[in-house]
Amino acid sequence: MSRFVWTFALAAGLAIAVSSAQAEEPAKEQIQAMTSAQPAVAEPAAKQEPKAQDAAPQAAPEQPKKAEPTKTALACAHPGALGTSRTITVAPDAFPHIGTMQYRESLPLEDHEVVITFDDGPLPPYTDRVLDALDAECVKVTYFIVGQMARAYPDTLRRIYNAGHVIGTHSMHHPFSMGRMDDEQLTREIDGGIVAVKAAIGDDRAVAPFFRVPGLARSRQVEAFAASRSLAVWSADEVADDWFHGIKPAQIVERAMRRIEAKGHRGVLLLHDIHPATAMAVPMLLKELKANGYKIVQAIPAGDRPATVPERTPEQIAAARSQGWPRVIKASLKGHHAHKHAHAASETDDGFMGKLAGKKKHAVASAYEINEIFNR
Ligand SMILES: [Zn+2]
Repeated sequence: MSRFVWTFALAAGLAIAVSSAQAEEPAKEQIQAMTSAQPAVAEPAAKQEPKAQDAAPQAAPEQPKKAEPTKTALACAHPGALGTSRTITVAPDAFPHIGTMQYRESLPLEDHEVVITFDDGPLPPYTDRVLDALDAECVKVTYFIVGQMARAYPDTLRRIYNAGHVIGTHSMHHPFSMGRMDDEQLTREIDGGIVAVKAAIGDDRAVAPFFRVPGLARSRQVEAFAASRSLAVWSADEVADDWFHGIKPAQIVERAMRRIEAKGHRGVLLLHDIHPATAMAVPMLLKELKANGYKIVQAIPAGDRPATVPERTPEQIAAARSQGWPRVIKASLKGHHAHKHAHAASETDDGFMGKLAGKKKHAVASAYEINEIFNR
């Protein structure tokens, strides 16, 4: 149960973890928001242009000092779509820390340019709905994947990658205590998360050296550890509170738009593709961004990446399951676990955990399933 709680407390507890872990950081109130995602249709996206970098001149290896903006819009088969206007190559030595919520620097975005990021997944069906919405608008983004989630849903992870998105990591178990961890614990969480995501995606080269600290609970030790692994540490410029208990999709969109405007009409936006409200918000958000003249920029890693990773066949999936691959066990929401969730919610105050207390049944259901996985 505890691992599950950590995982989901992530969203709920971000504000808390952040405020306690970074005394020297800027505006605490900025940290009270997170992100959004969206609903949609299903189609293994990616018929058009699986790899952002196909159209994007990569930063030359010999001069990784600057992000390399590219001017080529990525191909999009959907007329009138928002699209992805360009890519920025992010080398960790040039951008060790990203995001004005916690650092001085962010990505060198122009006026009305937005980089969208999603944390905490993958989690069907919400991740799939977000992917569908992104695909409908030919929008390419960056994901920060939790190791345990990748292990549980490797096929969804591969779908994300094959749709042309970038995969970074977000620890193994999403602990909120990373800011207080020693190197041994950080090794388990940071290195362990990377190993798990690489194993789940099936190709080491498909995982970018991008890392976001769970709950944004940074510390100098975490940053030094990340630097020792040549990881770029991502915070964000804006959040949209999409993990808040009871938040409506329209509110997520409104907060995202308002905060992006307030930050100079640009920024790195943090959302969570594990929430139903986010999944519903993403199509609306993309529509709003388009209507207001925004362009989407995708941050990509330097170097070569595979265009796609192999998807598992039904036979491979069945074989993996028979060998103990994590399975989802559905059970009654009224069982004793529901009581534990309700208790946990009272301890983490706001956010996703609040949903677990009982308002949104399908949210409870998905959370319950994850609980089963993490308890295995
Ligand atoms: Zn997270």
